[in-house]
Amino acid sequence: MSGEFDLIRRLQAQTAKPDRQVALGIGDDTAILKTSSTEWTLITTDLLAEGVHFDFATSSCENIGYRAAIANLSDIAAMGGTPRFMLVAIAIPSTCSTTQIHQLYRGMMQASSPYRVCLVGGDTSASKHGLFLSITLTGVVRPKRALLRSGARVGDRLYVTGTLGDSRAGLDLLSARRCRHLPASHTRFLRHRHHRPSARIAEGQWLVKHGLAGAAIDLSDGLTGDLRHICEESGVGADVLKGGLPISPACRAYAAAYGLSPQDIALQGGEDYELLFTVPADQQSRFERLAGKTPFHFTWIGTITPRRSGLRLRTEQGTTSPLPLTSYEHFRRPS
Ligand code: ADP
Ligand code: MG
Repeated sequence: MSGEFDLIRRLQAQTAKPDRQVALGIGDDTAILKTSSTEWTLITTDLLAEGVHFDFATSSCENIGYRAAIANLSDIAAMGGTPRFMLVAIAIPSTCSTTQIHQLYRGMMQASSPYRVCLVGGDTSASKHGLFLSITLTGVVRPKRALLRSGARVGDRLYVTGTLGDSRAGLDLLSARRCRHLPASHTRFLRHRHHRPSARIAEGQWLVKHGLAGAAIDLSDGLTGDLRHICEESGVGADVLKGGLPISPACRAYAAAYGLSPQDIALQGGEDYELLFTVPADQQSRFERLAGKTPFHFTWIGTITPRRSGLRLRTEQGTTSPLPLTSYEHFRRPS
């Protein structure tokens, strides 16, 4: 089996068929359908498999449902859209109780009801090998206003919302792979960031409203891998400032306690569901001025460069090194 992204590219080539109503097909956080002259529809789906995306040893059913909904909400956020309707398909192993399935749905509704998302259907099956949960979510955006992975240009500034690496650190602590002492408040924070990430819906909508972003993606695989998607789709390179990555005090404390590099955790850790986006250089001061009036947390972490420069990590002293591809990809063999 080839890597996940190579497989998707091959499937795209195998199935490509133009349709007047499809503004954007395979290749971005959601597809875009031209459903009316005033509103275009966004549609995305995400599958979670027991043992791959979650484990009952580290997550309650409520938290699994919550994170499944956030994974989809976050894709709508990355397009700058408003989430609307949800379908839920589950395959249930005989070891799962009805109570657990209700808890799963409680978590999904907790994550999606703040956005008034309406659950309109789904499918139910038995499973012989673990629990599978697949959510399909629609959203809307004004025509031609969605934030695409392909919108980055040389010179654009790279920004992220929130802090990076918390979810990975939280998962490591939950997995008890690491059990040395950390202050309880840090442990609680990191676990919470893993179990209950935020979808940056308001931030994405704000970027669209002010026409501030060139490209955007949500961070599900990890900064390095998701930045690579923006660079590939836009035909550009990028320099990331090693000293500029937003890292929470808890994640720094975790890294220090275990002799890890906090920057590595921030670059590699997946499932933060923060937004990574670009702002054209001539819009940066307007962006900073308007952002200062919001409750949102944005950090400037780098610059878009010509494609030939590739993806690089830049130190405060100005030296650069290639950004290693270390984020998550299904089927990829360890190098
Ligand atoms: P994300 O991490 O934002 O959910 P993915 O990496 O899962 O995005 O998917 C990238 C693109 O590939 C999306 O447009 C998605 O719809 C498409 N895609 C993923 N898997 C398949 C598949 N099995 N068949 C068709 N399209 C797929
Ligand atoms: Mg995405």
